[in-house]
Amino acid sequence: MIARNWRRHLVLACSIKVNINVPSQAETLSKTKTGKHRTCTDLLDCAYCHHHQQEEAMSTVTAASPAAGSFCIPRSRRRINMPRFTMTVRSSNAVSVGVAPILTKFKHDCATPLPLLRHVADAMATDMRAGLAVDGGSDLKMILSYVDTLPTGNERGLFYALDLGGTNFRVLRVQLGGKEERVIATEFDQVSIPQELMFGTSEELFDFIASGLAKFAEKEGGKFHLPPGRKREIGFTFSFPVRQTSIDSGILIKWTKGFAISGTAGRDVVACLNEAMDRQGLDMRVSALVNDTVGTLAGARYWDDDVMVAVILGTGTNACYVERMDAIPKLQGHVSPSGRTIVNTEWGAFSNGLPLTVFDRDMDAASINPGEQIFEKTISGMYLGEIVRRVLLKMAAEGSLFGESVPEKLSTPFVLRTPDLSAMQQDTSDDLNVVGSILYNIAGVESNLSARKIVLEVCDTIVMRGGRLAGAGIVGILQKMEEDSTGLIFGKRTVVAMDGGLYEHYPQYKRYLKDAVKEILGLEKSKNVVIEHTKDGSGIGASLLAASNSKYEHDF
Ligand code: ADP
Ligand code: MG
Repeated sequence: MIARNWRRHLVLACSIKVNINVPSQAETLSKTKTGKHRTCTDLLDCAYCHHHQQEEAMSTVTAASPAAGSFCIPRSRRRINMPRFTMTVRSSNAVSVGVAPILTKFKHDCATPLPLLRHVADAMATDMRAGLAVDGGSDLKMILSYVDTLPTGNERGLFYALDLGGTNFRVLRVQLGGKEERVIATEFDQVSIPQELMFGTSEELFDFIASGLAKFAEKEGGKFHLPPGRKREIGFTFSFPVRQTSIDSGILIKWTKGFAISGTAGRDVVACLNEAMDRQGLDMRVSALVNDTVGTLAGARYWDDDVMVAVILGTGTNACYVERMDAIPKLQGHVSPSGRTIVNTEWGAFSNGLPLTVFDRDMDAASINPGEQIFEKTISGMYLGEIVRRVLLKMAAEGSLFGESVPEKLSTPFVLRTPDLSAMQQDTSDDLNVVGSILYNIAGVESNLSARKIVLEVCDTIVMRGGRLAGAGIVGILQKMEEDSTGLIFGKRTVVAMDGGLYEHYPQYKRYLKDAVKEILGLEKSKNVVIEHTKDGSGIGASLLAASNSKYEHDF
């Protein structure tokens, strides 16, 4: 069984990259011409097709026809007898009577006015203090990273990094050349994590990782050189909550981001990787186990001494920052020569004062970790698309958003993904044909212009809430640091290093986040706060930490 899966993983491992398939306009138009709802024999009897027919007659909307195999879900008799055309194509104000109250309430429940953002920022700072005081003191675990020295720029040699995120698994090698030459060369490979591995066994997942690493290591050459007699050293970025026990060991507390793997919680994840590397016959050594936020901070700090905070907004979310040792009451004797250390907040578990809706509560209840990771479920990439889907489903069922039938695919959890929301929000065409194509291709939904506009409003509401709350979280961290050392944060340039696919690829999200930070801090303070994207920072950062924790002699 394992062997069979294993072969499959190898095949999957060869294919790198992902992506959203937004059909071209030509594709969309050709589908439009094919006309009617294929499973219906009588156009006039199918509200779905009738609606479609009307759109075509008006020649205004490029909605595609449903694919073969799709079908109408009949509604109750009462509804079928109701007038069918509640929406008018091209009328931007024509909203089905049933949709308006749902949209109004939804926007109201998601609102993030300044006082609410301030409350969230204050609560974040308070929870941080409580988590630093004692283990289990708050939702925020405030995990010590054992990273007490940050990269100096003097690091030299060949190092590897391995990054297990929520969606992707990346391997990277870097040849470091010290202060003068810095990063001489890097190479990386990226593989998406097969869905079935998210629910498999620990061995299967770690075998998959070790095999990817082995294949990548085999291709080493060119500018990459390992001095004779040395093992290749790895910085292992593991983006799940781990109780770090030293710089190169840590116990998995729990899986998050939809992973439910048996046999890893409570185990040292470095030991799991070492065992898998042994099974592969791969002779490498993990010198540093780092959270992705910690890797990002280290990577960004390599180039810029003002980096004090790192935030990940990808599949999940998390943040870390540079803390003074004397501000960590729960330290219990751990000493750092620099007097400072990086603390991993695990802020995804934050839950205080968030504006949540019935859709958030339902999604949480249906999740594999109900009641947990509430901040993450409100602001991170894994969940934004799913919240929107739930809102649209309710609007379709109770407000006839997409006509008289509820498209079946829209009932599938997680069918709408955050990259789909982002692609829809970039649509600047008059008839929103990208929105139409995505709704059709992803959710099997036929839509007219007014429905598309409502869909965009729902997306924007969720993305605005997510971005603004993430901004409030960042202010909370900065505030906490400033309270302990007045002037050291807001009185000088302070950089927040950002990474993750959500932040990188969703321009609206990024803008809402930055605007919220400015709004909360005000002009004076916010001009010293630089929020900067550091692409691939966590990979380089992990390899830098592998370098500074190398078991071989080094003088950096
Ligand atoms: P990971 O979190 O697995 O380490 P990334 O940082 O690359 O990986 O983030 C991937 C996540 O980023 C996806 O799950 C998705 O939610 C989000 N994302 C990726 N591409 C886009 C996009 N074009 N628009 C919006 N969000 C995106
Ligand atoms: Mg990541």
